Amino acid sequence: MDEVENVIIVGSGPAGLTSSIYCARGNLRPLCIEGDPSKVDGPGGQLMMTTDVENYPGFPEGVQGPDLMQRFRAQAERFGTRFKVGMISAIETDSRPFKLHLRETADAPVSEILQAHAVILATGASARLLGLESESRLMGHGVTTCATCDGAFFRDVPVAVIGGGDSAVEEANFLTRFASKVYVIHRRDKLRASAIMVDRALANPKIEIKWNRTVREFVGGERFLSHMMLDGTHEDEGVSEKLDVTGAFVAIGHIPNTRFLGERFEQAADGYLKVEAGGSRTTVEGIFGAGDVHDSHYRQAITAAGAGCKAALDCSRWLEAQGIGD
Ligand code: NAP
Repeated sequence: MDEVENVIIVGSGPAGLTSSIYCARGNLRPLCIEGDPSKVDGPGGQLMMTTDVENYPGFPEGVQGPDLMQRFRAQAERFGTRFKVGMISAIETDSRPFKLHLRETADAPVSEILQAHAVILATGASARLLGLESESRLMGHGVTTCATCDGAFFRDVPVAVIGGGDSAVEEANFLTRFASKVYVIHRRDKLRASAIMVDRALANPKIEIKWNRTVREFVGGERFLSHMMLDGTHEDEGVSEKLDVTGAFVAIGHIPNTRFLGERFEQAADGYLKVEAGGSRTTVEGIFGAGDVHDSHYRQAITAAGAGCKAALDCSRWLEAQGIGD
């Protein structure tokens, strides 16, 4: 507990690892808290659940999400970043150095109190859920949020993806490698996903889009899904439809991981961390934010990486002004 880190970086997605690279190259010997190792996708953020990343510059043939994150991590390590697995469940901000409560997994008790002169928050965002009782009951038993993790379990059977954004359409395309049929359940008559992804989905004979539909219920036994009940939205009012699927992939966006932050951190109504316009300073001096934890607009790996760079530079300059570091 006595040792005080120059900077602790919380999160190991593109924002956290880019911050780590920059802080390490600035001789700050950063400590990066990687996340919960017990999660199905492990630490490394949302890209650990992504297959082909085709829009990250420098990879003209595309790159697999986990491979990209492994490269980020190796680069951070090369310059001296130290890593610790676990979750930060609270940050004491009343005095400096800050005290960070570390748990080995999200459900474990606090195992260590870490101290740091500065903190970079890069905790990203997590999958949003529909909030149905049947969704939580069958989660992991036919209902899932990760096509990359679970897609191969659904060979030659029909599945559904819920959502109309890039995640949903990407997952639908990916799932056609395994499933006999992929339904996309979308609550409107137009997809939000980018044109190239939409064209690819519409041209795929295995994909059928169920427009103007919401999920009323996931139905099955205790540990398996047999079908879903759908309702028509106002365009198709009164419609009730049974869809036979044994897998359902919920891909309706994300919620920022800010719940562990105290009230000194200003947040937007939807929970996104507020940082200064164009920069990374939060409302707590000495604590900076980067990536999807504060960005509800762009939410790309490249913008998160850029934000991680900015936070590291802001943090280094702030530490220097405090006379901390080399
Ligand atoms: P998103 O763009 O926010 O899309 C969420 C989708 O879920 C929307 O179609 C939304 O419907 C629907 N939805 C939200 N709440 C719902 C509810 N309660 N019931 C039913 N449907 C609901 O989220 P995302 O697809 O996860 O993408 C997030 C960001 O990451 C985006 O900026 C995206 O471009 C990026 N991304 C990029 C790639 C890639 O380039 N390879 C892959 C994945 C994600 P409405 O359309 O009606 O709002």
